[in-house]
Amino acid sequence: ESTLSDLKDKIKSYPDFPKEGIVFRDIFSVLRDPACLRNILDLMVAKIELLKWTDVDVVVGLESRGFILAPLLAVKLNAGFVPVRKKGRLPGVCKEIAYTLEYRSDVLEIQQDSVHQGQRVLIIDDLIATGGSLGATCKLLSGLNANVVGCLVLLELEQLHGSKNVEAPVESLITF
Ligand code: IMP
Repeated sequence: ESTLSDLKDKIKSYPDFPKEGIVFRDIFSVLRDPACLRNILDLMVAKIELLKWTDVDVVVGLESRGFILAPLLAVKLNAGFVPVRKKGRLPGVCKEIAYTLEYRSDVLEIQQDSVHQGQRVLIIDDLIATGGSLGATCKLLSGLNANVVGCLVLLELEQLHGSKNVEAPVESLITF
């Protein structure tokens, strides 16, 4: 528990970024510290084990900060890595979904052949705010008939109740 509160204390907050009224939590302020980076991974794996989310085929990461933690966890879980990206950045046949973020709206895409029917999927992102991004990602994966076991994020902005907008269980290491 002391590790988690140490980590929380080390996450820098930037008021009014990227626009007025938003307090931006910067995960890069802890990822640059080798001990913190290792702790984050170890704590995420411990949580995944506790939740019995270990037996997954694919770890999905959301562009762009989900791309940092998802492949690291995929290696630990002996799973593959699949990206969910902003529209127009992935080649081949993609499935897309429109969604609304905390401070903008966008379209997310996944490659149609990247996850197969019935595969167990864990979704990773840096942070859940409104849950728009994770909710949309779950819907993309349901559209591919994948089995989303859950979503794990480093940070959760608790007062926004974002997990209500996500059809799969959402867990976080640190809440603000
Ligand atoms: P949501 O879709 O509203 O849950 O917003 C989550 C997405 O917005 C994640 O992909 C985050 O990377 C990004 N985001 C929103 N607020 C912050 C923040 O304070 N720090 C870092 N990323 C944020």
